[in-house]
Amino acid sequence: MPALRELLATPRRIGIISHRQPDGDAIGSSLGLYHYLVAQGHTVVVAMPTDYPRFLKWMPGTDKVLLHEFDQKRTEAALAETEVLFILDFNAPSRAYLLEKFIVQYKGVKVMVDHHPEPEPCVDLMYHDTASCSTSELIYRLVADLGHTLPGPDAGMCLYCGILTDSGSFRFPSVTAQTHRIVAGLLELGVDHSAVYEQVHSSSSEHKLRLLGYCLDDKMVVLPEFHAAYISLSLAEKERFHFEPGDTEGTVNYPLGITGIRFAAFFSEDKDRVKISFRSQGNFDVNALARAHFSGGGHRNAAGGHSLESLEATVARFRSLLPQYASQLAMP
Ligand code: 5GP
Ligand code: MN
Repeated sequence: MPALRELLATPRRIGIISHRQPDGDAIGSSLGLYHYLVAQGHTVVVAMPTDYPRFLKWMPGTDKVLLHEFDQKRTEAALAETEVLFILDFNAPSRAYLLEKFIVQYKGVKVMVDHHPEPEPCVDLMYHDTASCSTSELIYRLVADLGHTLPGPDAGMCLYCGILTDSGSFRFPSVTAQTHRIVAGLLELGVDHSAVYEQVHSSSSEHKLRLLGYCLDDKMVVLPEFHAAYISLSLAEKERFHFEPGDTEGTVNYPLGITGIRFAAFFSEDKDRVKISFRSQGNFDVNALARAHFSGGGHRNAAGGHSLESLEATVARFRSLLPQYASQLAMP
């Protein structure tokens, strides 16, 4: 990374953006990088296209994050002052929602740090590795490649949270020996891993837990002939359970716990679209399916997309696609 090292050799004004509906890795990698860059003497602005779940709002630096959906003018004004823009945990400007135009038109140096397949050539510098379990892991490696160590446990807590959430608590095949070496480094830095786990997994509202129960009991449709299962939620149902961002995070994974189910989908009706999550176990490639039919993408075993049709029409189209994937789904 000589070009990036040279770029950051003098104090810069730097922006950091991650994707719409930011998850633990989006926020963790952004704030981890934020703490590092600030410690190096840079002036840093962190902005997200949309709000993020309460269970991530404990991370050190969370009070610094600008939310574009709530304050477009202030966010764009702050980002416009920067000369370097990091885009983290996504690789296509459209994933930045209403910040897409800002990214495309940005005049400074654009740097991507990401672990999703098939990055769009939309930046000047790229630190990209699909073998990495998370962007947070890549931030740790980037800091080391730049010849530095993390400034302290604040940065460490953020990166640990990103690695924990994107690796499914270290259970996904994307986890490697290097992931664990990096985590060992984070613990040596003073990261309280139990505290991070508690913050992420033990801070649900009662509504969130009851919504999960409703999804599994009333809404899960199992299609054993296709080794598939799905859950769909309408806006009205979400309102009934006082839905907040992040309340259905992880719900898509539950059907994979059924013996023989290798493909799970979750449809969530929003005001302007239906957001879809796909998960698979084994060789079934949900990234390919999301790209081909639902304007999305992601990884082989975890991908997402969206539809502008009604919830019913989206689910019907999903079901009508299954026969063409039947032979792939039949193979473990
Ligand atoms: P989730 O289902 O948790 O929203 O997303 C699962 C994975 O798919 C994540 O790695 C996420 O970045 C990716 N993903 C989700 N939605 C989209 C989308 O609309 N487009 C693309 N390219 N990737 C997505
Ligand atoms: Mn990620």
